[in-house]
Amino acid sequence: MAQPPTINHGFRDPQIGVRGMKDTARKQQWSKRTRAVHSGTRRSQYGELSEAMFLTQGFVYRSAEDAEQRFIESGPDEFIYARYGNPTVAMFEDRIAALEGAEAAFATASGMAAVNGALVSMLKAGDHVVSSRALFGSCHYILDEVLTRYGVEVTFVDGTNLDEWRAAVREGTKAVFFESLSNPTLELIDIPAVAEIAHGVGATVICDNVFATPVFSDAIAQGVDVVVYSATKHIDGQGRCLGGVILGTEHFIRKTVEPYLKHTGGAMSPFNAWVLLKSLETLDIRVRAQAETAVKVAAALDAAPGVARVIFPGLASHPQHDLATRLMEKPGTMISFEVAGGKEGAFRFLNGLEIVKISNNLGDAKSIATHPATTTHQRLTDEQRAVAGITPGMVRLSIGLEDADDLIADLTGALAAS
Ligand SMILES: *Cc1c(COP(=O)(O)O)cnc(C)c1O
Repeated sequence: MAQPPTINHGFRDPQIGVRGMKDTARKQQWSKRTRAVHSGTRRSQYGELSEAMFLTQGFVYRSAEDAEQRFIESGPDEFIYARYGNPTVAMFEDRIAALEGAEAAFATASGMAAVNGALVSMLKAGDHVVSSRALFGSCHYILDEVLTRYGVEVTFVDGTNLDEWRAAVREGTKAVFFESLSNPTLELIDIPAVAEIAHGVGATVICDNVFATPVFSDAIAQGVDVVVYSATKHIDGQGRCLGGVILGTEHFIRKTVEPYLKHTGGAMSPFNAWVLLKSLETLDIRVRAQAETAVKVAAALDAAPGVARVIFPGLASHPQHDLATRLMEKPGTMISFEVAGGKEGAFRFLNGLEIVKISNNLGDAKSIATHPATTTHQRLTDEQRAVAGITPGMVRLSIGLEDADDLIADLTGALAAS
């Protein structure tokens, strides 16, 4: 396994001076939870405790010469235009890079801008990509319709089957793409094994790590080269902002991702960056509380009448339970299950819920139930849905921050009514 990465905390603190900026040996030992509170902080000359929101798209130069120089090369505290970068956005980027153990990050307007940016910035006509088939609908659209329209060849595989990955990669495969924990069927990718197969042909491994969360997954240490998140989900965690981020090596972010994104306009707004930056401070405690409740809810659903099947990586019945235990610190905050009685049964159940909301966000403080077949995965044909395991009775549940017993009462009450 690779050396643990050196954490770049990205401190910039004119008040405390060099001492505050230096990444000491002790800071290298910081756990994720500490990094999520402190890393990336940039203090202005006022020494504010809470991070400042720089709602500005432009920056004033000291002189014409200064402007000229900055366009040649900007220093770390020099910004040009918010489409290229902004101090509040830079704080979010540095903090999540430190949290993830990545060298660098580029923040985007949404999770899809991150997925699109990571792929399109590195690919050109004639390239070959191998992707897991179990994908979020919009990810599938980018791979299956956008990339192919520009002459990129895409091969889809059953991501859980290593033989299919081995058979699909070849010399000239530029990237492999997967969701580490798939939406909504909660299939896991054996990240170290797939990374080894991909690296054998020199392909870049790109992982959409939304469901696994930065808290429970160590995708980069497990062999992933580029991690993308929709920050809209657990990172915001309170349903307010769209956002996304691409994490990777300094070279990949600065030389490949940044030129593409800064010129095509996928930048994150400073306001959203501020909300998401402050959200990182509470990410760990929120996601751990949600995951703890998810274990209890999954067990209750597993025992409830009217539930045909529960898919949760924390249950021994999950076909990849051992892999989940190996790759993720906790089995996550998402549960999928099948209500008896198909679509009608699922709809009666959804309409009987009181606490759990019918919506399609996830990772939120509010628990959310989604019917993938008629919403997020409506675009797929019946056959594609069947291959993906998305049945008419399937409900995807995102566990929030409510009391576990209240949630279980709500779910079992709605099941009884269905
Ligand atoms: C939501 C989601 C996205 C897209 O993120 P947005 O912020 O909505 O653009 C991408 N991948 C996965 C797995 C998601 O759940």
